[in-house]
Amino acid sequence: MTTHVEVMVLGSGIGGSTVAAILARQGVSVGIVDAARHPRFALGESTIGETSFLMRLLAARWDVPELAQLSTSAGIRDHASHRCGIKTNFGFVYHRADVDHDPYEVTQCSVSEGPFGPESHLMRADIDKYLFEASVRHGAVAREGVRITEVSFGDVVSIALDNGETFTADYVIDATGRTSVLADTFGLRDEPCRFRTDSRTIFTHMRGVKPYDAVEESSGQPNLWHEGTLHHLFDGGWLWVIPFDNHDESESDLVSVGLSLDTKRFPKPDGVTPEEEWNAFLSRYPAIARQFEGATSAFRWISTGRTQFSSSQTVGDRWVLMSHAAGAIDALFSRGMANTMAVIEAFVPTARPGSPTSTR
Ligand SMILES: Cc1cc2nc3c(=O)[nH]c(=O)nc-3n(C[C@H](O)[C@H](O)[C@H](O)COP(=O)(O)OP(=O)(O)OC[C@H]3O[C@@H](n4cnc5c(N)ncnc54)[C@H](O)[C@@H]3O)c2cc1C
Repeated sequence: MTTHVEVMVLGSGIGGSTVAAILARQGVSVGIVDAARHPRFALGESTIGETSFLMRLLAARWDVPELAQLSTSAGIRDHASHRCGIKTNFGFVYHRADVDHDPYEVTQCSVSEGPFGPESHLMRADIDKYLFEASVRHGAVAREGVRITEVSFGDVVSIALDNGETFTADYVIDATGRTSVLADTFGLRDEPCRFRTDSRTIFTHMRGVKPYDAVEESSGQPNLWHEGTLHHLFDGGWLWVIPFDNHDESESDLVSVGLSLDTKRFPKPDGVTPEEEWNAFLSRYPAIARQFEGATSAFRWISTGRTQFSSSQTVGDRWVLMSHAAGAIDALFSRGMANTMAVIEAFVPTARPGSPTSTR
């Protein structure tokens, strides 16, 4: 079976679903396909002001109200999910190995001010599902649980799926993230990656994580650490603590936890599970260990290879890579989704039918 659409979106995460919803809302015929089924796990949970602002701007400019709903914690709660957290601050707490924490080695940036309230900790399983469903509501033709096996460029672009189906399209937007289908098709990945940062991560969602405020004396910071995205910093890496359970209306008891480690300082150990590595790490940092005393993982720990990747080209004849398909450096300042929204904000006007700069 072959279906023709004007624009085919590969991947239905936050990037793919957002751009598909906007284009479909403008009357463009859009297809969207993903190997996974919603709801599915994704990293990238902490918003910054730019993420939320761009969502409101895209919502207003392209008349996609769902994006504005996701730009405030009240909107998320009322429309999309009861499992997201609030983020009143970016917290950074510095630790030295084998000694207790000095309460003066901290800094905190408050992000709770302004008319729209605090930023959010997005339970991506719920948020991506909400946006995916919005794209379908606005008219996108969707396939879930179907892998893209081949993309070939002729008179039209042909996208083969592993269920035997084929889509043809005038234009392809690749939002398949780090395993980018088009990067693979065109051999776009820089080898080696051009970024100097060289780090890896281990991560999971946990239950029973104590608020850092409960295990450490206050440093006089304006907000509770637990009401924000807390970064424990140490020589050679950092650890993120992103609570979803940090306000009265949350129905989640989960906290996203992950370690970002300089690969040269912390080479991936052989024969050690990620959980053993996590426990060994905690044994060196007493204040962090107190926060995680008695906490358990909600699913298995995942240990990745190098976080960084880059591409030699991000746009070409009838194709574009969304930000996370093009490259990534480091998540310390939670810029990923803001970058994605910025690429969409720049790209959509050129893809709109009738636009003088239309790429179609
Ligand atoms: C450790 C880490 C922490 C991060 N923390 C933050 C943060 O706090 N804040 C922030 O803003 N950003 C963060 N990011 C970045 C964030 O994760 C990304 O910017 C964001 O997830 C990109 O969304 P996306 O929809 O483009 O891609 P993804 O969410 O990766 O979605 C890609 C989709 O493509 C599908 N797919 C892949 N291959 C195929 C195929 N062959 N066929 C069909 N489907 C396919 C996948 O199933 C998936 O659903 C973090 C990233 C990392 C690595």
